[in-house]
Amino acid sequence: MSDSKPSGAPPAIEVSNLWRSFHNLHAVQGISFKVDPGQVVGFVGANGAGKTTTMRILATLDYPTAGSMKVCGFDVVDYPAEVRRLIGWMPDHYGTYHNMTVVEYLDFFARALGYKGKERVERITEVMEFTDLVPLADRLTDKLSKGMGQRLCLGRALLHDPEVLILDEPAAGLDPKARVELKHLIRILAEEGKTVFISSHILSELDEMCDTLLFINQGQIIHHGSSESLRKGNSGTTIIAVDLVESSEKLKAWADLNPDASFIDGTKNGGRLKIESVDPTIIATTLRRMIQDGLTITQFTQEERKLEDAFIEILGEIEASGVPIVS
Ligand code: ATP
Repeated sequence: MSDSKPSGAPPAIEVSNLWRSFHNLHAVQGISFKVDPGQVVGFVGANGAGKTTTMRILATLDYPTAGSMKVCGFDVVDYPAEVRRLIGWMPDHYGTYHNMTVVEYLDFFARALGYKGKERVERITEVMEFTDLVPLADRLTDKLSKGMGQRLCLGRALLHDPEVLILDEPAAGLDPKARVELKHLIRILAEEGKTVFISSHILSELDEMCDTLLFINQGQIIHHGSSESLRKGNSGTTIIAVDLVESSEKLKAWADLNPDASFIDGTKNGGRLKIESVDPTIIATTLRRMIQDGLTITQFTQEERKLEDAFIEILGEIEASGVPIVS
């Protein structure tokens, strides 16, 4: 046990060759990554990719089958009490209690955390002000809207002022306004220096608030990097959106005959193409060729790669090579 105690300034989260199997189902398959203190990291993957399984081990609610996980240098298996002090856990579903108001709910958990007297009242007030729960103080917890409930759940996770926040799908089911409010709260927490590890299967939800994105697919990490690096990709390609008089089928047919361009999808007035170059001269030549080949182009814009496209491209590369790409 002694070698898993912290020394120096350890990463906020450190995962080494973590496995979690349920009989012969390998939900997490040897993942490794580090999160520096103060970083906001998005944990992205499709349904069933292994996000909740990983987060539950991090929250000391489950054990790894093999490998290790540390929070601020403390191993989650060897030092669960220390880890629980350091983390705030917001699960994807939380329990409510009948006939319990918002303030009673927070008071119950603050007592369980050992807060007493004036300090408890002050802490609950601080959390309620931060999560905008003051106007809801006397509302019953089982009658809250989804967004209000998520704020209550976040408030509960913040009560003991944790260093590391683990938020499992906090934006799921929220309306656009509630999502903006949640993003705002996460941004403030990040400015205060908290480490935030946040999962979602919707990329655009995480893009604006995360420093880096960690992609998990079938229990394996397939990419770890900033959204900028992901958009740029490894491939040196350019995406162009073309508006034209003709239908998107005509653009697709043209791309099928031109190996340096591939059709991505159709749009209202045309479609999007991927050009196998970032050289402006080559892109201009491609455009000229389209016009020479009879396409009536009305507008032409160079697009930043969408994160979804980048993700699909990575999955395609993995399928082609069989080797996960971690950058
Ligand atoms: P979602 O976005 O749908 O929440 P996820 O990425 O969080 O998905 P997990 O909940 O981690 O995915 O599940 C990963 C895999 O492990 C799934 O195939 C799931 O069915 C399986 N799994 C998770 N928990 C258990 C369990 N207790 N027993 C058996 N299988 C499980």
